[in-house]
Amino acid sequence: PTAELQALDAAHHMHPFTHGDALAKKGARVITSAKGVFLKDSDGVEILDGMSGLWCVNLGYGRSELAEVAARQMRELPYYNTFFQTTTVPALSLAARIAELAPEGLDHVFFSSSGSEANDTNIRLVRHYWHAMGKPSKKIIISRKNGYHGSTMGGASLGGMSAMHAQGGLPIPDITHIDQPHWWAEGGDTSPEEFGLARARQLEEKIAELGEDNVAAFIAEPIQGAGGVIIPPETYWPEIQRICDAHDILLIADEVICGFGRTGEWFGSQAMNIRPDIMTFAKGVTSGYQPVGGSIVHKDVAAVVNAAGDFNHGYTYSGHPVACAVALENVRLLDEEGVLQHVRDIAAPALAEKFATLGEHPMVADPRTFGMLGGLQLSPDKDARAKFEAPVGTIGLRVRERCFANGVIMRHVGDRMIVCPPLVITPEEIDTMVERALKSIDEAYEG
Ligand code: PLP
Repeated sequence: PTAELQALDAAHHMHPFTHGDALAKKGARVITSAKGVFLKDSDGVEILDGMSGLWCVNLGYGRSELAEVAARQMRELPYYNTFFQTTTVPALSLAARIAELAPEGLDHVFFSSSGSEANDTNIRLVRHYWHAMGKPSKKIIISRKNGYHGSTMGGASLGGMSAMHAQGGLPIPDITHIDQPHWWAEGGDTSPEEFGLARARQLEEKIAELGEDNVAAFIAEPIQGAGGVIIPPETYWPEIQRICDAHDILLIADEVICGFGRTGEWFGSQAMNIRPDIMTFAKGVTSGYQPVGGSIVHKDVAAVVNAAGDFNHGYTYSGHPVACAVALENVRLLDEEGVLQHVRDIAAPALAEKFATLGEHPMVADPRTFGMLGGLQLSPDKDARAKFEAPVGTIGLRVRERCFANGVIMRHVGDRMIVCPPLVITPEEIDTMVERALKSIDEAYEG
């Protein structure tokens, strides 16, 4: 019975990003199975998953092909590592396949099991690179406030979430942050284009302040996901690219959310026309069916690192054969079933059109989408671009709870609501998702 499961959970299970005492009072919702875009809970209630789990179930739930590949690989070779000049067929094949899909020149892959670990790898990788280049002072990594790059000490330091920094004594040294390009909240009287340029130029100002010889890299998500689906103005990324090129700064695109079809391209960097030196990936590479992450490294960077002796870094599960076999099958299915085409031609236009209708609600400002990412701002006075007063997130949490009750998972980030549904979602399911969201926003508004 659900109550028994909830009691066990509250007694023994510490949840990520959850208020433990509040959970004990209310009990967690127990998810027991899933198919397509629908989850089922322990009471048999169906819920449309508007978040693809945690932005990862790109192919949707219940794909038995992935289970079968995992079982086959477990029978044949359940584990071997990729340390000390050994490899496995799934690991090398996945690296080669990713090299085919990634932007020109990004043709080497270093595996981890998660996005956080991959970003920790990136910190070590870029420092090792500059050391090997004879520029060991280039150590500082610049990232963005409100960005999200994971939960490890390195990942959370690269991230710009103040609540995470406050709890962990972060960031670690030699990581610093500039402002995010969120025009609606911070653009004031400037046009989005002017604002995008101004925010990108903060990078150049920061490099000047720190000294070019001390800066190793800039890292950012092509579209900020966990920060609230913040789509940068069109002027932003070209200017960031120019600045990185001009000052000899490595550009790291964190593609953990944007990668593997989310934007309608294999990577967000392709959609945004960026030429990164390194890309972080995880989540969608396996549609969440197995934990795989990693860094996709440009051949020029990889050549320097490879020539510099041992890179003393790696994880027991770097290139785990079962996880890599599942990733290969997931990529094959995304490709052969034309899922990216479905996003471009059907799902993303349907999401954009339906999401825009939310803007008619008096409390909804700035409904926006890019590919299969959507975000909106809850506002007490949207013409004035006003935000709800403290405590920020009260209304967002209320909407999220109403969504849960109405059979749709929508996440809140403060008073921003976001969606990231499986890429295979149909236009009818998009209608259902947005109608349930609207009903929930309305109920929260009435309340
Ligand atoms: N980078 C980005 C952009 C993310 O959104 C996330 C997770 O949401 C991470 C890194 C961390 O990935 P993981 O949770 O697999 O460690």
